[in-house]
Amino acid sequence: MSKPVIVAENVVKRFDEVVAVNDISFAVNAGEIFAFLGPNGAGKSTTISMLTTMLRPTSGKLFLNSHNVAKEQANARKSFGIVFQDPALEEELTAYENMLVHAILYGIPKPEQVPRIEELLRLVDLWERKDSYVKTYSGGMRRRLEIARGLLHHPKVLFLDEPTLGLDTQTRNLLWDYVQKLRDNEGMTIFFTTHYLDEAEEVADRIAIIDHGKIVATGTSKQLAKQTGTKTLEQAYLELTGKGVRDETSLANNGLNVRTAMRNRNLR
Ligand code: ADP
Ligand code: MG
Repeated sequence: MSKPVIVAENVVKRFDEVVAVNDISFAVNAGEIFAFLGPNGAGKSTTISMLTTMLRPTSGKLFLNSHNVAKEQANARKSFGIVFQDPALEEELTAYENMLVHAILYGIPKPEQVPRIEELLRLVDLWERKDSYVKTYSGGMRRRLEIARGLLHHPKVLFLDEPTLGLDTQTRNLLWDYVQKLRDNEGMTIFFTTHYLDEAEEVADRIAIIDHGKIVATGTSKQLAKQTGTKTLEQAYLELTGKGVRDETSLANNGLNVRTAMRNRNLR
């Protein structure tokens, strides 16, 4: 049995009267690709923010790479990389400069910086545009640059919060191929959210479904289908979370809070 690298024990997060995360427990093993699925407002981003030290749980415990996230923040932070739902790039720098600043911040050894930046910018097809300012980039290009940046320091655990939102099929495929390669070659553990159920079905070793802050099912795509008496992950998902559209949406400024926390963290 491989050791769990991400552990949540009875984690609760309240925002005043809103219980965003309501007593969740799970464990993700080393080298696993784990999908965290749920409707808007289910508590996915809040969970990622707690795991990545940007929010404190109201109660419960979180461990990352065996470090207690609340008590050993610095060690926990060294263990992960993250790609946000909402890109946080420096507009007044070029793509290449954005990558270089990040490489320096994360202490990537100098001889590795240039080749790794080139590898990743080529991966997301931005190498030819590396010297353009980010402020001239389209939405899709920004997203691709953020993904490249999140992968730069080859962390032990990679969190991806809706990384493929709004990307074309070709770029989505490239991203997941690369993520699988990182897992295969480096044993990286991947925790991601997506609304594209086909991605989760294809890429994830295991899936947890969260709804109204509670985990309603965990297992392989096949197990979830079997458990719900359905044939596909999408059918299982709809069976577990209902067919009604949620008017509840995650807070628009959630990404901004995360961004501010990230900046503060980088300045420390
Ligand atoms: P998801 O990522 O699954 O769409 P979130 O984790 O962003 O969901 O949000 C879960 C719930 O917590 C939602 O009801 C959302 O409105 C609420 N929430 C998230 N962040 C905050 C915050 N900073 N303050 C108050 N409520 C929040
Ligand atoms: Mg979210």
